[in-house]
Amino acid sequence: MGMASCERLRVTVRGAVQGVGFRPFIYRLANELKLNGRVSNSSQGVFIEVEGPTNSVREFLFRIEKENPPRAVIQSLESSFVDVIGYTQFEICESEERGDKTVLILPDIAACADCLREVVDRKNRRFRYPFANCTNCGPRFSIIEGLPYDRANTSMKKFTMCRECEREYHDPLDRRFHAQPNACPKCGPQLELWNEDGAVLAERDDSLRYAADAVRAGKILALKGLGGFQLIVDARNEAAVVRLRERKHREEKPFALMYPTLAAAGADCEISALDERLLLSPESPIVLLSRKMDNQQSPIVPSVAPRNPNLGVMLPYSPLHHLLMRELNFPIVATSGNLSDEPICIDEHEALQRLRGIADVFLVHDRPIVRHVDDSVARVMYGREMLLRRARGYAPLPVRIKSEIPNPKSETILAVGAHLKNTLALKIDENIFVSQHIGDLETKQAYSAFCRAAADLPRLYDAKLASVACDMHPDYLSTKHAREIVSDWKTHAPVLLDVQHHWAHVAACMAENEIQAPVLGVAWDGTGFGLDGTIWGGEFLRAKNDGLFERVAHLRQFRLPGGDAAIRQPRRSALGLLHEILGPDCWSFRRLFRDFAEHEQRLLRQMLEKKINAPLTSSVGRLFDAVAALIGLRQRAGFEGQAAMELEFARQPGVQNAYSFSLQYASPMIIDWEPMVRELLDDLERHETRGVIAAKFHNALVEMIVALAKRIGHESIVLTGGCFQNRYLTERAVERLREENFRPYWHQRIPPNDGGIALGQAVAAAWVGGRTRGHYHSDARDSNRRSSTHGWQRRAKRIKARRLK
Ligand SMILES: [Zn+2]
Ligand SMILES: [Zn+2]
Ligand SMILES: [Zn+2]
Repeated sequence: MGMASCERLRVTVRGAVQGVGFRPFIYRLANELKLNGRVSNSSQGVFIEVEGPTNSVREFLFRIEKENPPRAVIQSLESSFVDVIGYTQFEICESEERGDKTVLILPDIAACADCLREVVDRKNRRFRYPFANCTNCGPRFSIIEGLPYDRANTSMKKFTMCRECEREYHDPLDRRFHAQPNACPKCGPQLELWNEDGAVLAERDDSLRYAADAVRAGKILALKGLGGFQLIVDARNEAAVVRLRERKHREEKPFALMYPTLAAAGADCEISALDERLLLSPESPIVLLSRKMDNQQSPIVPSVAPRNPNLGVMLPYSPLHHLLMRELNFPIVATSGNLSDEPICIDEHEALQRLRGIADVFLVHDRPIVRHVDDSVARVMYGREMLLRRARGYAPLPVRIKSEIPNPKSETILAVGAHLKNTLALKIDENIFVSQHIGDLETKQAYSAFCRAAADLPRLYDAKLASVACDMHPDYLSTKHAREIVSDWKTHAPVLLDVQHHWAHVAACMAENEIQAPVLGVAWDGTGFGLDGTIWGGEFLRAKNDGLFERVAHLRQFRLPGGDAAIRQPRRSALGLLHEILGPDCWSFRRLFRDFAEHEQRLLRQMLEKKINAPLTSSVGRLFDAVAALIGLRQRAGFEGQAAMELEFARQPGVQNAYSFSLQYASPMIIDWEPMVRELLDDLERHETRGVIAAKFHNALVEMIVALAKRIGHESIVLTGGCFQNRYLTERAVERLREENFRPYWHQRIPPNDGGIALGQAVAAAWVGGRTRGHYHSDARDSNRRSSTHGWQRRAKRIKARRLK
């Protein structure tokens, strides 16, 4: 795959990297690789920028971690690619103190090599101790109750250090000097193994050995890890994995795996150098890897990731996981300890209740987890890292917004995010702290976890809120909570700003790529509340210099019979799509809809013909669903985005042609997919393979982006929204746009899905600043606005009426 010839890489390294010869090391490495740029220290870590040929820049990234000086320890390494600016040399700059003293709370850090050596060393006093840590590794965000970061402000306060630990803690030459969670088998947290009634089956090291026995015997183990409970079973045992699926009510969503070693994972999956870096990094996320197709020996049973060519893989990160995996030495399923849609459990007593009937045994400990932090999920996209779920290892590190943004220091903003894959964000000066992944706000537990986080984040940073930013969707619990926060104030209430969903996606992507308007934002996802009250999701938004946006184009709308019910039934999207172009004739495609029951057909016909409970949408996510259903790939979905994912996987590689589409030059412009659907139906008629149809569909979507980009004429094109988790769609769009001399941007550190909405809300709200009180839509001069306000009120009334019933 072709890459741009020259790139600028920015790296922020945190950890014991100051005063240990780290900057000279970086200087030598950059010179050796003939890269230009700079390195500087600041209170937030070491900032590095290098610029040069793609291959050298990538080699530089790998070698930072492989070859760093002996005393340097990297606790966190964030990297992203930004536009080239033309450095002419490499220089070491003086320390930068921007007067910016915002306290940095570190994420939880995977066990360092020194601590790991100790726990496997028989002669060490921490031999087989699962809670060993030092200043370079261990829990942080998950144990902090308040600032400053002292032991008294962490959940370690209940453990009094023994004399030996105390000595380490006060010795400036010791690796554990001021290591707040410092502990040893004598004085620190301990393991216990419980049965499902909470009766103690074993203590300390025995509990670890018995827990391993239980997993070997096909039992489901609930393990209290770093940021919450995980459910663990033997990934080679089909019956055990199936049982876990049944008990967890998770039918088809792939499970994540933990392999004992990199080599073991490499036997089953393709691992690139960048994948390897991620797997072994201090952040240690789950990395989506392609399975080796020729590998018939893979021990992973089918139920782990049904019909999925990828596996979500992580390596052990805490000493507890390392010890367990040494014991087992085979891959395990390690999925979040919850019932589907709920947040992960963090407390062992709560776990007994909530995971009752799911887990057979509980491996617990007495170090309280202050806030839940899930495992993060990442994948490599076009040679760069892309986070799909930002939590352990990353949260709550900030995204810095560029100072060219008008009044970046003006106000403190809390952004409450969207409904699915919720996160929160807190903007203080130039830093936007993004919370850990909270999840879908579908259950009471999820909502209370969200409320806790919404209170926690501003409290932790002692923030005085000037505004609260939320989605425009009146039904979202996050939106309602934002209103409550504001109305709870007696005086000096923060301003409530509602930010259109897709505009938030675009703003998030612009912020992390540090680019300025004018920009054409392509925001494609499943669902978002539009300015006109319809469901948006196939949007082309122009970011303007004044911090506002204009909807320049969108995909042609179609009706979704049953509204939200269509998300779980791609066949309903297919029906709505055909009804839009064929009217009542759509029913002549009987074979496509033969699994609708008679009464269902009657109901759906009514919805579509009378336009009742059949909202209009321009969503590309639903278009994916419709196509997946039309070609017989999937009629019902077990989870949001499943049909789209399977359509991505069904694509036959190497197919270059695309379906047609047309542009209607209205304002906003409309991209009409009717020619595409008609050609697709012809292909079906001719028994064309699914692989070819899926490829022509993907290619058509990319050509739509290229056509619009040419029409609008801005050089910078932002690709954002859940659809751009699709690797083929993103990579092909990037290549085609580059061929046509555009500059495409996509997500790296912040998810393209709704996990990125909170950041975007904070950024969009900062752009308009104190200029707008009350509801912030787009442009006050935009004619859309009147109708949108109208739609909003009408809808709000309807919702109220529904509640009263
Ligand atoms: Zn350590
Ligand atoms: Zn001790
Ligand atoms: Zn979205």
